[in-house]
Amino acid sequence: MANTETLVLSGARIIDGTGAEPVRGRSVVVENGIITAVVDDARAPRGSGVDLAGHTLLPGLINCHVHLCLGAEPDPVLPLREEPLAMTAIKALLRARQTAEAGVTTVRDLGGRDYVEIAVRRAIQDGLVTGPRIVAAGRPVCMTGGHGHWLAREADGPDDARKAVREQLKAGADVIKIIATGGVLTPGVEPGSPQLTLDEMRAAIEEARKAGRRTAAHAMAASGIGDAIAAGITSIEHGIYLTDEIVARMRRDGTFLVPTLNAPAAIATGGLAAGIPEYAVRKSEVVIPPHVASFQLAHRAGVRIAAGADSGTPLNFHGSLLPELELMSKYGMTPLEAIRSATVTAADCLGLGSVTGRIAPGYAADLIAVAGDPAERLSALADLRLVLINGRPVRRDDGG
Ligand SMILES: [Zn+2]
Repeated sequence: MANTETLVLSGARIIDGTGAEPVRGRSVVVENGIITAVVDDARAPRGSGVDLAGHTLLPGLINCHVHLCLGAEPDPVLPLREEPLAMTAIKALLRARQTAEAGVTTVRDLGGRDYVEIAVRRAIQDGLVTGPRIVAAGRPVCMTGGHGHWLAREADGPDDARKAVREQLKAGADVIKIIATGGVLTPGVEPGSPQLTLDEMRAAIEEARKAGRRTAAHAMAASGIGDAIAAGITSIEHGIYLTDEIVARMRRDGTFLVPTLNAPAAIATGGLAAGIPEYAVRKSEVVIPPHVASFQLAHRAGVRIAAGADSGTPLNFHGSLLPELELMSKYGMTPLEAIRSATVTAADCLGLGSVTGRIAPGYAADLIAVAGDPAERLSALADLRLVLINGRPVRRDDGG
């Protein structure tokens, strides 16, 4: 099926990504990689038709937090220390393809290795390899010895934070990631401790804004979350220790929460038996109860929650976003709310709200078809039959 042909997808139940109930009897028309019309089946134009009876068509999913250079190994620090860079690049390409084939058509990479993920983004854009649309941060900016220093750019003081951001922009970053607090995957730092100062974050975010870039903060402790929001952050990643005051402010400012529920859950489930370092298991077990409570607090308060799994962290595999969506559903979202968080809301979080994440005219034909109805049962998302990115088939399973 050539990209220039008119493609008509008919017969499916359609979930458009906005949170609206599924509709039937409509056809989605795709031309040159763009959705050009959603019309009654009877009025569908001729073209290369795809019959999706019995299936559900929805926007390709968006994972707002991945690390393509990490492979879900039990100890994330070791491979980065021991693996040749060329091997990291090959593996990152394969993980990108695996992600697209699992129906995730856009990812935001929030910390790579020596800009491998930015090269992967370019290879996909140039059509050399198959993969999702990638929004990449390059190196996160952390304080000296801060969380993630093993892959970050360490910076101290507002001037150095500013320079660190400029370096990422020079390397081709689409978004800037800053480390506001301690975290789980770095020995010797605690999730509850603040790290970059308010002044450092203000300088970093100002520099990102000058270049028209959005920002994301790894933020677990309440004080660090509060400072990141005060500095004007776009999204709070993890958000372990939210408070009533913080969620009210997030709602007022339109700050997104990317909960990454599966990151500590996968570590706690695998545990020491899987070879995960003791410090990571211990901290994950500590953060899970407040993490879940914070997610529920934010959801009830109407904070915009964008789906992101932190894929690549220990036993948190690249590919399907379903494990994260199932946790969001387990802790209070309806299936349609979880799907919206991975489509319309995620696209808004990434600044792609007029590009992808919705089935409507003018949007990229980033589409997936699954057997059954994920609005009834999220696990239907695992039964993928078709994945299109910009109208090009990444995966098409006929029959069955
Ligand atoms: Zn992460």
